[in-house]
Amino acid sequence: MGIRTGQEYLDSIKVRNKVEIYVMGKEVKDVTTNPFLKPSVLAFKATFDSAWDEDTKDLARVWSPFINEEVNRFNHIHRSPEDLAAKVKLLRKISHKVGACFQRCVGYDALNTLYIITELMAQHGKTEPKEKFIEYLKTVQKKDLALAGAMTDAKGVRTLKPHEQPNKDAYVRITEVTKDGIYVSGAKANITGVAASEEIVVLPTRAMGPEDQDYAVAFSIPTDTEGIKIIVGRQLNDARRLEGGEIDALPYFYNHEGLIIFDNVFVPMERVFLMRDWQYTSQLVEIFSAYHRQGYGGCKAGLGDVIIGATYNLAKQIGVEKAPHVQDKINEEIFLTETMYAAGIAASLNGIEVCPGCWWVNPMQANVTKHLVTRFPSQIAQLAIDIAGGILGTAPSEWDLKNPKIKELLAKYLQGVEGYTAEDRIRMVRLLENVALGVAFQIESVHGAGSPAAQRIMFSRLYNLSYAEEVAKRLAGMKSNVKFTKKVEPWKESETEKLAKEAEKNTETASGGK
Ligand code: SF4
Repeated sequence: MGIRTGQEYLDSIKVRNKVEIYVMGKEVKDVTTNPFLKPSVLAFKATFDSAWDEDTKDLARVWSPFINEEVNRFNHIHRSPEDLAAKVKLLRKISHKVGACFQRCVGYDALNTLYIITELMAQHGKTEPKEKFIEYLKTVQKKDLALAGAMTDAKGVRTLKPHEQPNKDAYVRITEVTKDGIYVSGAKANITGVAASEEIVVLPTRAMGPEDQDYAVAFSIPTDTEGIKIIVGRQLNDARRLEGGEIDALPYFYNHEGLIIFDNVFVPMERVFLMRDWQYTSQLVEIFSAYHRQGYGGCKAGLGDVIIGATYNLAKQIGVEKAPHVQDKINEEIFLTETMYAAGIAASLNGIEVCPGCWWVNPMQANVTKHLVTRFPSQIAQLAIDIAGGILGTAPSEWDLKNPKIKELLAKYLQGVEGYTAEDRIRMVRLLENVALGVAFQIESVHGAGSPAAQRIMFSRLYNLSYAEEVAKRLAGMKSNVKFTKKVEPWKESETEKLAKEAEKNTETASGGK
């Protein structure tokens, strides 16, 4: 089938008999027409459209050596630093088209994570996961499947490890192993775009020890498998979508997150990529989180562009766009947006080939990217609120604009500069409200791909403080053990790089050494 069109994707998810999705307590069978979910589905669809639109198809189409065909980049395995940068660029561009999270990147990052981890397992002598994963990858690429990535578990009591939890299913776990497959139970929380997906790729959410081995599981499963229940979360302004309007709720594009419950679900053995392989969970989490943290430099910068544009237009509508303080605030928005993007591009172009053909992002810079994203979107939104004015929180509804008794009055009192109508003002205010204050820009920016503390842990793991201290001691004229090498940055090896080095040694030993 190769690269699908957006319409082919819609047709495919329209009828799914076994799918069990709940929205506000009601079961939804057709996500493409449900007013609550339709904007999410359309945002997801934009990733398919990107492979056909003239302005994005060069970024979105890429050659796959696995199936010897062009594939959609969202199902591609990175082959170079330029590939990693193309991801960030594509994400920024799609944000311009939808003004929301388009939800397909988690599955994309999950695929690339499993590619590296199963390759490293193979180099350590365990070849079966890699063989199974490559077969799965080929299917995903040939069918251009829409994947959701599922990592965050329900987690129960946060201070307890998975096996210590009073609720044994607080983390997704293997409950039974048969010769044909495994049974799993548990839940994955905050899963981006899951109701709009065709397949779910499940990964463990934390590093595990031997006592947690039943929780060290990674697999893929069709979204409409019996025993899977999806409960879609509520978001700000979501009930507006049920009103049937076309301004207040942005009914065209949005995003959703869902809770996935696995109720004794059978997973065929050929779809199980990690089965009690707790030794690889720490690296797996490190690889995945760095990939997704890099991606935020693209999509959140793209949303920053939308907000900058909305801020500028609202300033023009009331005639203040040339006021020095307004220009200064817009320049600050630009600086914050471009900084996030620059970090994402740096994390890509300084990517690392952790095993032959396995291109991973630069872990330090990917974590820096995400940490910027935990702070800058709220600052960008603050500046936008400042310029847009109180109307952002007080604007009348689109239904007032449409009421014949008051619409002329609203037209008179909401208009600013001639040439812009009251409806223009309300439309732009609503865009700004929904994008700048919505989940994708505010909450996802803080907690998606790991909360701020998770990046700070990575900074202390990856930064070589002792080296920096020795550098400072030398310059201060103190006794110093500093050793200068060709390496510029004071960065230590990640867990993944250490595992890759061990794997390389194993391969050399097995081949008689070099
Ligand atoms: Fe993609 Fe950004 Fe949404 Fe993550 S938050 S799925 S990177 S658009």
